[in-house]
Amino acid sequence: MKTVLITGGSRGIGAACVKKFAEEGCNVVFFYRSSADEAEKISKETGALALKCDVADSEAVKLAAGEALSHFGSRSFDVLVCNAGISVEGLVQDLSDEEWERLDGTNTGGTVNSVRAVVGGMISEKKGSIVLMSSMWGKSGASYEAAYSATKAAVIGFGQGLARELGPSGIRVNMVAPGVIYTDMNKGRSREDWEQIFSDTPLGRAGRPEEVAELVYFLASDKASFITGQTVGIDGGFVI
Ligand code: NAD
Repeated sequence: MKTVLITGGSRGIGAACVKKFAEEGCNVVFFYRSSADEAEKISKETGALALKCDVADSEAVKLAAGEALSHFGSRSFDVLVCNAGISVEGLVQDLSDEEWERLDGTNTGGTVNSVRAVVGGMISEKKGSIVLMSSMWGKSGASYEAAYSATKAAVIGFGQGLARELGPSGIRVNMVAPGVIYTDMNKGRSREDWEQIFSDTPLGRAGRPEEVAELVYFLASDKASFITGQTVGIDGGFVI
């Protein structure tokens, strides 16, 4: 049975990934930052282990990853999905130091911390698959979300480097670049925003978390055994 760690699994895309991997019979552990009620609900529904762990805190990530391996009696994770992320919108000149540190610490730092915590075990076992959550804005850049775009572009660069570094150890690394997906991250959007998004998207709609989870599962699975270092868009054609 595969042991799978998903960061940011209490809601949205991460929760859909937890459900998908659990349905496919994996041992799943997920991290969440603060939403204990949501985390407990997903845990009850799927049987996944929920651990409160801020991915920006490298020591906490190491401890929680170790706790999860002991819980499942596994030597290493088979799959890591680095999904935890936040967005901050606004003009770049208005971004505070605190906002930038939180954004970069979570999106970039959290990804690096999670990989550092699990990769030693994967290298020893000479197997593993890592999926990093980027964004279409990491490929094309978004006005009003330039700093967020920077963190998501960093995730792509990190993943490409990792794919080269870890390929010889039998570990694959791929990135997923979603477009606009119906989650809490977009709950503040106005009706005009949604209309604009639909008209800019060839498929004329936003995406569902479950659609992203299917792609993450595929990339993590043995069906994607010759795919590494790739950034796969799932955005209804928004970025072509
Ligand atoms: P969401 O806000 O619905 O969920 C975010 C999840 O991440 C939650 O489970 C939260 O607990 C967790 N999280 C946040 N900060 C954390 C931290 N410091 N430590 C641990 N967990 C933390 O967001 P979502 O829309 O599901 O986004 C998931 C990922 O997909 C993010 O990386 C996001 O940037 C990316 N993404 C989302 C969209 C979109 O339109 N929703 C588009 C492209 C990329």
